Amino acid sequence: MLPLNDIWKKACEYISEEISSPVAYRTWIGESYPYKVKNGSIYFCVPTEINKNMIEKRYSELIINSILEVTGEKYGIMVTIGEEEDDDKDEKREDKKEDLNIKAPSKYTFDNFVVGNSNKFAHAASLAVAETPGQGYNPLFIYGGSGLGKTHLMHAIENYIHENNTKLKTTFVTAETFTIELIEAVQKKSTEAFREKYRKTDVLFVDDIHFIAGKVSTEEEFHNTFNTLFDSDKQIVLTSDRPPEEIPNLAERLVTRFSWGVKCDIQPPEYETKVGILKQKAKDQNINISTETIIYISDNININVRELEGFLTTLSAYSKVKREEEVTRETVDYVISKYISVKEEVKTITPKTIISAVAKLFRVNEDDITSKRKTKEIVIPRQVSIYLCKNLTELSFNKIGDYFGGKDHSTVMHAVKKVESYIETDPEIKEKVLTLTKDLTN
Ligand code: ADP
Ligand code: MG
Repeated sequence: MLPLNDIWKKACEYISEEISSPVAYRTWIGESYPYKVKNGSIYFCVPTEINKNMIEKRYSELIINSILEVTGEKYGIMVTIGEEEDDDKDEKREDKKEDLNIKAPSKYTFDNFVVGNSNKFAHAASLAVAETPGQGYNPLFIYGGSGLGKTHLMHAIENYIHENNTKLKTTFVTAETFTIELIEAVQKKSTEAFREKYRKTDVLFVDDIHFIAGKVSTEEEFHNTFNTLFDSDKQIVLTSDRPPEEIPNLAERLVTRFSWGVKCDIQPPEYETKVGILKQKAKDQNINISTETIIYISDNININVRELEGFLTTLSAYSKVKREEEVTRETVDYVISKYISVKEEVKTITPKTIISAVAKLFRVNEDDITSKRKTKEIVIPRQVSIYLCKNLTELSFNKIGDYFGGKDHSTVMHAVKKVESYIETDPEIKEKVLTLTKDLTN
């Protein structure tokens, strides 16, 4: 008989052909390690109970048949939870990752969610729901502190469903929006349409559900929505900053219902996961930064993941203005010194705040910047405003164009390129752009 690891490696080739989603393959198969054969069964260890359930309920037949292809024998499979001592394991893990053809991630997906001990249950449960909505983990209740990835996971589930199961209708809402829409519906006497919207969906996501606690009519309405969906096996996914039983003033019947399915918490990331998340964010934002510099940032600045993302955006903006090929430590130090002192009052940067800062510095009218006037005095401030919108906000070229009198994608891109060339050739403009970046991000 072939060594167990070789059998598994070959079997994985068959299995990977049958699982179209790379993240599903990576999470369920890639995290299953065969460690012994006994009484006609191959034993696997997996990291969480959810992995075990998914293997047993969804993938056992595929695994058994693939092993049959390789060995000519029909083995059973047994799944245990926990780590099995295995020296080559890390190496194998790396191998598998390279084999996979990972698609470029959009904003919040499983592909750009970094998994570590702090969030592995929430991640596994979310992926299980994404693959088999309404079939067991219902409702899925994810809770934990701010900025730990709850909303990210919800969007990842939704995106996954859209990609793999296009027939399902999903509805995503924050509890706050749900509440506001309900109040408006009551005022406009359109509660039927409101109900229709939330009860005729296959998967309902409600972010920050704790918001409805103590708002009696909203709780009542949500209770009914919940029952309707649950009774027809529609998936419900909820997030909150704490577990249901700890949400102050939440109606008892909701506390009970929220606990029917799986509850999983997300803890603050441990060091390695935090570094991993930073690396991922740098990649998502196309920032060229070395792992050493990322580690340097993690060691020198103690802020949460969400703030780190803003920090990276600022860092990248500075680095670009300084025409750095790769973010340097010097720039990191500079931005840290600026950032830390003003961290308490983080400003939001919008086209409006940008335009007003530019107008002030260039001594022109704000209205002129968004007008169609083409005189030289106004063209440069306009281009600089566009450049800053591109670098300091997450707006798309088209959205930016809208703010500047309906310019199209290519005009916006042209303006950005222009400013990039001024920065190289014109020290005065370069200085102004630096000052503006500093003032706006401070
Ligand atoms: P929450 O909803 O828990 O407050 P979010 O989902 O909004 O947090 O996450 C805040 C930011 O941190 C987002 O940009 C998100 O992508 C990022 N983030 C948090 N955890 C992770 C992770 N494990 N991998 C990648 N990004 C993460
Ligand atoms: Mg959130």
